[in-house]
Amino acid sequence: MTASFKDVRFFDTTLRDGEQTPGVSLTAEEKLWIAKKLDELGVHVIEAGSAITSEGERASIKVIANEGLRAEICSFARVLKKDIDLALKCDVDSVHLVVPVSDLHITQKLRKDKKTVKEMAVDVTEYAKDHGLIVELSGEDASRADLDYLMSLYKEGISAGADRICFCDTVGVLLPEQTEKIFAKLKTLPVPVSVHCHDDFGLATANSIAALRAGAQQVHVTINGLGERAGNASLEEVVMTLEALYDCDTGINTKDLYTTSRLVSRLTGVPVARNKAVVGDYAFTHESGIHTHGILASPETYEPIAPEKVGRTRKIILGKHAGKSSVKMALKEFGLEASEEQVGEIANRVKELGDKGKRVTDADLQAIAEAVLGICKEAKVKLDELTVISGNKVTPTASVKLVVNNKDVIESGTGVGPVDAAISALRRAISGIADIQLEEYRVEAITGGTDALVEVWVKLSKDGKMVTARGAREDIIMASVEAVLEGINRLME
Ligand code: MN
Repeated sequence: MTASFKDVRFFDTTLRDGEQTPGVSLTAEEKLWIAKKLDELGVHVIEAGSAITSEGERASIKVIANEGLRAEICSFARVLKKDIDLALKCDVDSVHLVVPVSDLHITQKLRKDKKTVKEMAVDVTEYAKDHGLIVELSGEDASRADLDYLMSLYKEGISAGADRICFCDTVGVLLPEQTEKIFAKLKTLPVPVSVHCHDDFGLATANSIAALRAGAQQVHVTINGLGERAGNASLEEVVMTLEALYDCDTGINTKDLYTTSRLVSRLTGVPVARNKAVVGDYAFTHESGIHTHGILASPETYEPIAPEKVGRTRKIILGKHAGKSSVKMALKEFGLEASEEQVGEIANRVKELGDKGKRVTDADLQAIAEAVLGICKEAKVKLDELTVISGNKVTPTASVKLVVNNKDVIESGTGVGPVDAAISALRRAISGIADIQLEEYRVEAITGGTDALVEVWVKLSKDGKMVTARGAREDIIMASVEAVLEGINRLME
């Protein structure tokens, strides 16, 4: 089994089918950026776009074709000579020559008959070959076509010079066992066979693997499974299935899978589902106590893929499933030592927060741990309410309600922005008991997207005494307020 997968070729269509994802449109610069990344990843063919689409599309395909990438650069084309002429203007190596083959597509879309369509396919294949292009002759809606007709079309196309043929499950209706049977037949053709699957039933990866098992030599994929409707087979899933479950070296640079996924998500604006295989946020994140205990003992207990293999790191999240093991792991990261009893108490408090539906951040855990370990006394100044108003035609204004030595203090402040306004309100609220100066403010770490954790560091001083404090939240204003409050409390100890 391993040997048959050794020479699988990856035909990436992120820039063509992927760009046909509803609402996605990439600039020429963005397409080139993705193409370079795909080339580094090691895909064999990059379908850079469809030359017939527009002048701008042609310009971007041409730039990619002339970039000197290792991959074969391909354009989508219909079985029309003018499409070949336009592809030639883009300097591509090959065309993905797509011919509708199901009765439905032939009669309803093209309003032609099978014989005419086959003649067009042969004719345009010859034309493209005469002009020096590599031709991948592709049957659109092949999974709903008459297989005998399809085979005869492929055979005549191959006689006309087609270098590869492709079978498209255009609407994603194939089943894996059916795919194996079809490809066992296609394998008898004298040229490499390619498979193009869609994910309408969530079967794109399974069908692609079934086709490869039955003898297909090339697979069409997209980064993050982008593509028309529910998308195409995802590159990362197909690659990792072959690598990890079939023990096959695909030649793909798997360590770049995550960064490629992030790049494509960012440029296309299509987020990756958090629980998506391989590249989703949660794919290497553990929360439950039992699982983190296992991971601590041996990562393979709950990780079928080592995170480093795909360029990722393991994350432990604390919440209501947190156990002593995950708390211990987290404490170790903070450099805090706790007795068994203290660890138990910290875990209980984390669970309490988790039960309220709260995600427990690093800062929360640190605060809990410090309180339990007696590092920090009960805070003198606590935040009860915070309101911030900001916009383009409003003076950034904040109001706070603090509990200072068990008494409510309400104050407001303005600033150049919402963070400045919030900090100004805080300083005014405690001005009666302490004169606190903000010496330094910096946002230290932002991981991932706009919903990621923001870490704010502040340096505060009071009567020559200086402290550094930290806040970590998903909300930059809350992170800033948290940091300043922590600093205030420490200055007032
Ligand atoms: Mn498609």
